[in-house]
Amino acid sequence: MTGKHLKRFAEQTPGMVFNPNPVAAYGDYQGYQVVIQGYLNENQYIITWAVTGGMIADQPANINQYLVSLGTGRPYFNYARYEKSTITVNIRHKGEDVEHLTDILNQVTAFCRNNGMTTCCKYCGSPSGLGVYNINGRVEAMCTSCFGQVQVNLQQAQAAIKQKKANIPGGILGAFLGSLVGVALWIALYQMGYIAGIVGLVYTFLAMKGYQKFGGKLDKTGLILSLVIAAVMLFVGEMAALLVTIASSFPVDFGQAMQLLGYLLQDGEIQSTVIGELAMGYFFAALASVSTIISVYREANLKHEVRRLG
Ligand SMILES: [Zn+2]
Repeated sequence: MTGKHLKRFAEQTPGMVFNPNPVAAYGDYQGYQVVIQGYLNENQYIITWAVTGGMIADQPANINQYLVSLGTGRPYFNYARYEKSTITVNIRHKGEDVEHLTDILNQVTAFCRNNGMTTCCKYCGSPSGLGVYNINGRVEAMCTSCFGQVQVNLQQAQAAIKQKKANIPGGILGAFLGSLVGVALWIALYQMGYIAGIVGLVYTFLAMKGYQKFGGKLDKTGLILSLVIAAVMLFVGEMAALLVTIASSFPVDFGQAMQLLGYLLQDGEIQSTVIGELAMGYFFAALASVSTIISVYREANLKHEVRRLG
């Protein structure tokens, strides 16, 4: 996600600032603090304003009525709603049409002004001290003291996870159960003639999730154990896939298939095929999993990025 369209919009629009990661534009638009965040590779924009006073006190239902009417004659309009002091408008976006953003901003700003609403902190309603923050990939406008509260809450939640003791046997069981799904998928795809890195991703992802679920938390020990279990289970998956292939090609029972597998694996040519398949499995698994491993681990330990943007 490059955000080049939103960047161009911010450059053309007085008061707006562009932020590349996460892709967002924010600032004071005609006296109202607004945040525009890009989603789905910029195919959608979510525009938010926090407002107070005026129509909000008297007739909040009329705000939603107005927001629904915004969709008329605007094919790029997805939805809009007013909830918890925040007006949210979601629009679709194709290519260069950033003037849709300007159109929506002008409409909503004029509506707020005409109905006596003013810009505020979405949490406490304070009109002053507004800043824009990145809260774990979500760009939010709020006041300094509410941001302080967000930080305190996050630190407390992190401390609670740290204090919690992991149930390692439970975690190992969870990682095992999770990677069994990978084994099943590996066998199925093997029958169709594929060895796919995506299966490696399933092994590691579900092993980590299984560990977290059954072990109570995913700390560093849990992470290492999960990855070891996923790697062992990838090997188990390969052996199981070979067994299924043997059992479906020859009239043998399970015990005989095991014996036959042991016998076949002594053959140099078969050995190198199997080693090649495993190497490919591990390689693609590692390739597909790195960013997932990092994000699952960070998420499990609430290692969120929380900082002021502007
Ligand atoms: Zn506040």
